[in-house]
Amino acid sequence: MLQTPDPILAAFTAQKSLAAQRRASFGLSERRAALDRLAAAIRAHEAALIQALQDDLGRPEAEAILLDYLPVLAEIRHTRRHLRSWMRPRRVASTLATFGASGRIIPQPRGVCLIISPWNVPFALALSPLVSALAAGNSAILKPSELTPATSALIARMIAQTFPPDLVTVIEGDKEVAERLLALPFDHIFFTGSPAVGKIVMAAAARNLTSVTLELGGKSPTIIGPDADLKQAADWIAFGKFVNAGQVCISPDHLFVHDSVKDRFLTLLRARIARAYGSGPASPHLSRIVSDRHAASMTELLTDARAKGAQVTLDHGAQGRAVGPALIEAITPEMRLDQEEIFGPLLPILPYSDLGPVIDRINARDKPLALYIFDRDPSRIDRILAETTSGGVGINLTVVQYTQSNLPFGGVNSSGLGASNGIHGFRAFSHERAVLRNRFLALPLLFPPYGPRTLRLIRLIKRILG
Ligand code: NAD
Repeated sequence: MLQTPDPILAAFTAQKSLAAQRRASFGLSERRAALDRLAAAIRAHEAALIQALQDDLGRPEAEAILLDYLPVLAEIRHTRRHLRSWMRPRRVASTLATFGASGRIIPQPRGVCLIISPWNVPFALALSPLVSALAAGNSAILKPSELTPATSALIARMIAQTFPPDLVTVIEGDKEVAERLLALPFDHIFFTGSPAVGKIVMAAAARNLTSVTLELGGKSPTIIGPDADLKQAADWIAFGKFVNAGQVCISPDHLFVHDSVKDRFLTLLRARIARAYGSGPASPHLSRIVSDRHAASMTELLTDARAKGAQVTLDHGAQGRAVGPALIEAITPEMRLDQEEIFGPLLPILPYSDLGPVIDRINARDKPLALYIFDRDPSRIDRILAETTSGGVGINLTVVQYTQSNLPFGGVNSSGLGASNGIHGFRAFSHERAVLRNRFLALPLLFPPYGPRTLRLIRLIKRILG
């Protein structure tokens, strides 16, 4: 009886069999051509993408374009422009010990890469890593999230029309499919998702000693200082917290607000929320929660907090997958809201009078992906920068730091490993090969047999280097 070939294994084997050949032949012009094909395909699918994001996440068109469509095109544009210089071998200066030899770093494609992406920004977080993978000369298998099926199907269709499967293939499916992919000896795995699954991915990668980039999440704190521009803070925090209904890995998770400005800030924040989203949950300007289960978990977080003494001072309520903004005060460490990444439009407010305990609290927890500071006082900003750590920092802004293609985007420990964006993404998908070429190295003078002359020379070298 004929057996149907396993599509996962077939896709992997097809890419693997061409990897060595591709390493030699996938040069600047081929890579640029691949990026151009991808950009053209994305442009051709703009309307379908907006519809898919509406189906999956109830996304307003503006958010579909801002979060998923434009960032990939911007990444392609930036990458295309700089690719020649990123690909160029870099000379390194000689050291005393290697005087007479020239050293170069040659970025090489890693080979066959696996990209696993999440549902919250389902198009851009699958395709932006693909831009870096192709730019670095790799082939790739993409596994989009099963929780956004319309976007996943669109990506699969678009990629099948654009690239041969031995260069890029999309394998759709859930965690079982991801687990089968993870068992294969890929040359690199680029995973975006939760810290819990990040651990599973890293453990699977360890079995094949596959390198990984992990773009994870966590609770990103925001600190509003006594000297902050409060109107600016309210505008940016409302945007950062409620864009995509808070389902953004770098959304402000919770706010520390200085006592002296808390009331004024909250008045401005409420006004900003009312202006943007009205008063109910089903605003046309607010995305929906990805699934009924995730929407129910928002209600559960609020119920748990209320039961443990929280004051919900603003609540736009919930209606199916439409969950409106909520502001929560009197937070305690027993509340799930205070323990888990919220990943939705619920905003805990924690007043403070002294910065020290706020810094201690941030340092006592998992290292955040993002940390936001609203203040005009440079010494306070510098103190927070010096005494805390996080993947990135936004000062007097939220969320948009990831659009700065020259900055690495990534976490630290529990919020991630490695980085993406621009040259940082290119490096994630490249092996930096070290090449040392002999020109007139004098080292053979030290080769055996070791006579008195060798020892005299070694003593001389010891004096210079030791
Ligand atoms: P998730 O970890 O549940 O899923 C991500 C991907 O992993 C999906 O494709 C899923 O099918 C797959 N997966 C799920 N279970 C798996 C398993 N056991 N083995 C292998 N693969 C598995 O994450 P999510 O719920 O889709 O996304 C939300 C999380 O992602 C949040 O923590 C958020 O902060 C984080 N995130 C991080 C970034 C970033 O750039 N750092 C961006 C977006 C989201």
